[in-house]
Amino acid sequence: MAAERLVVIGGDAAGMSAASQARRLKGPGALEIVAFERGHFTSYSACGIPYWVGGDVEARDDLIARTPEEHRERDIDLRMRTEVTELDVAGQRVKALDRESGKTYWTGFDKLVIATGARPVRPALPGMDAAGVHGVQTLDDGQALLDSLDALRSEGPRRAVVVGAGYIGVEMAEAMLKRGFEVTVLNRGEQPMATLDADMGRLVHEALDGLGITTVNGAAVTKILTGPDGRVTEVATDAGTYPADVVVLGIGVEPETGLARAAGLPVGPHGGLLTDLAMRVVGHDNIWAGGDCVEVLDLVAGRTRHVALGTHANKHGQVIGSNIGGGYGTFPGVVGTAVSKVCDLEIARTGLREKDARAVGLRYVTATIESTQRAGYYPGAKPMTVKMIAELRTGRLLGVQIVGREGSAKRVDVAAVALTAGMTVEQMTALDLGYAPPFSPVWDPVLVAARKTVAAVRGAGS
Ligand SMILES: Cc1cc2nc3c(=O)[nH]c(=O)nc-3n(C[C@H](O)[C@H](O)[C@H](O)COP(=O)(O)OP(=O)(O)OC[C@H]3O[C@@H](n4cnc5c(N)ncnc54)[C@H](O)[C@@H]3O)c2cc1C
Repeated sequence: MAAERLVVIGGDAAGMSAASQARRLKGPGALEIVAFERGHFTSYSACGIPYWVGGDVEARDDLIARTPEEHRERDIDLRMRTEVTELDVAGQRVKALDRESGKTYWTGFDKLVIATGARPVRPALPGMDAAGVHGVQTLDDGQALLDSLDALRSEGPRRAVVVGAGYIGVEMAEAMLKRGFEVTVLNRGEQPMATLDADMGRLVHEALDGLGITTVNGAAVTKILTGPDGRVTEVATDAGTYPADVVVLGIGVEPETGLARAAGLPVGPHGGLLTDLAMRVVGHDNIWAGGDCVEVLDLVAGRTRHVALGTHANKHGQVIGSNIGGGYGTFPGVVGTAVSKVCDLEIARTGLREKDARAVGLRYVTATIESTQRAGYYPGAKPMTVKMIAELRTGRLLGVQIVGREGSAKRVDVAAVALTAGMTVEQMTALDLGYAPPFSPVWDPVLVAARKTVAAVRGAGS
């Protein structure tokens, strides 16, 4: 009997994790695996691009976890520079375009994994495609940006404009600062880091000011202006015009689901593919999807959302590969945990923001505390702010946001566990967290925030 064929579309985190796990569980005789990747790289860390551009990571190849050759050695028939252009669900086949030769061909599948990721938002504004305007989605993008920086004149001030003040925007602001640029971040919203409430975003804004990074809020880009050589010179917004030798775009991403939509597969309200807990596409027994192209269940809000994070994509791939390989796995959902940094400022969040809670009809209280990430007397103690949100009456934890210096961000993991376990803030006050002066004050800032939130819950209830 011929081996079953698994076809994988997309050769990065979700796709190659699925392929590798399926191969681990099923030998080559039992499963043929064909993976299509339209780009030049597989299994690479886009997450590392800001640190490579900023010079913390030396070489591009340091960001590659597994090369095409290494995948092929594991009996995965990986077809690089080959784009799947059509999906025939009923006929169980995909149409592939070899981008090198221009040839197209159909390949049949018994099982299919869709791991096409997300595409960066790139508004159709005049000048968006000008020389010197760069996205940072792929390693090719990162290389193009570095080449563009090398080509710039070395005398005089060099100005970088970063469009977007989400985590990629602020990480790229740091990278450009480290490259010696004067950096302006253009932010359409009220405060940078819209994944935080505005009161916490304001702390990020102040810290960016302190680092010498100019942040302009309420500045929606309207046009990129260019010089006679076609290279960017300025960025026009509805709040003013900003000189730029280079522009970095970090405006967010959308699930890459064109292929799947055209084939009639179900997508949710945020444009991502809908799956069950085993990451099987709803209504399709032999098709799985994972990574940035799917929507996931938000365990706190109780509805789906699109969260483009590598940490999820790898887990999805593992679950999919286990299920295809004859094992068993599920991905129950997310609580919305994310960490990032700009220079020594750390930013973290998990759970719901105030507006998320309101959007799903939850009533809540909040408490915000100031503390330090180490004992106040210990060298290197620096400020750390924690905001906690809990449900009115029940005191169930709903969300935590942290802005502070080195050692602050990963404390959010305590809150992520508490959210997953459905703990109340009162239960959190009794958590047995580690203490020694180099790591925290005797009352860890998360515990202090929990105590203050308990008081807020009681105060609101009386
Ligand atoms: C600058 C940056 C920093 C980031 N930092 C973090 C971080 O700190 N933490 C974190 O958790 N996440 C981070 N992320 C997000 C993380 O990189 C993504 O969530 C992750 O890469 C998603 O993996 P994926 O496999 O779903 O999609 P992708 O990595 O986008 O891979 C999809 C692949 O599919 C290929 N493809 C698409 N369509 C087709 C087709 N039709 N045919 C063939 N191939 C196709 C694409 O070429 C691509 O290689 C960052 C992302 C960026 C850009």
